[in-house]
Amino acid sequence: MKKIKVIAFDADDTLWVNEPIFTKTQKEFKTLLEPYLTGDEIDTKLYNAEIRNLRLFGYGVKGFMLSMIETAIELTQGKITGSEIQRIIDLGKEMIEHPIEVLPNVEETIKLLQDQYELMVITKGDLFDQESKIARSGLGIYFSKVEIVSEKNEQSYLNIIRKNNIIADEFIMIGNSLKSDILPVCKIGAHAVHIPFHVTWAHELVETHQIEGVAYQELADISLLPELLNQFLIV
Ligand SMILES: [Mg+2]
Repeated sequence: MKKIKVIAFDADDTLWVNEPIFTKTQKEFKTLLEPYLTGDEIDTKLYNAEIRNLRLFGYGVKGFMLSMIETAIELTQGKITGSEIQRIIDLGKEMIEHPIEVLPNVEETIKLLQDQYELMVITKGDLFDQESKIARSGLGIYFSKVEIVSEKNEQSYLNIIRKNNIIADEFIMIGNSLKSDILPVCKIGAHAVHIPFHVTWAHELVETHQIEGVAYQELADISLLPELLNQFLIV
């Protein structure tokens, strides 16, 4: 008998590339502001605006776009031109329409797992954008459920498992963010596998003391997941 019945995957930077698109756009945003100012002040101000605006806009490209506009107006003391603001909006549109780059070994691995487990996606962010990414990734056919939440915390995971009649001990979450995919899941008595991605947004970073004593697994690559899941077999 298998102990784990449901495997949930994070989407951004677990199934496909996401953070590098933000990093690239932020670089272009800095170039756009070069006639006015340079330096790390832009990064700091933008990050502060993003965090301040999370409460109002939630996660995702649209909030990021508005935060870039707000930062540009603030840092140029209102001197930014209409056409420069248009360029920022275009940068955001390019992000939303950016081709989906599914990460290596993802499709092969979920194909292997689909017959033995119920597979789902749990992602946070903008509903429209995330639904579009799942559709364009071609991976949608493998998942029986897709949950798009505004925040990934203990309460949202509890809501998801209750709503879907899942037992916490039979549930495992796979993701690249310790803060969003691992810690809250372990805290509700479920299992979690961390697959680090090479870049992590500052907001998703956690202090070492926050992960001390939390039991989760770490894998270098998603292709190692089926083997790890076999360790959950109950004889
Ligand atoms: Mg992620």
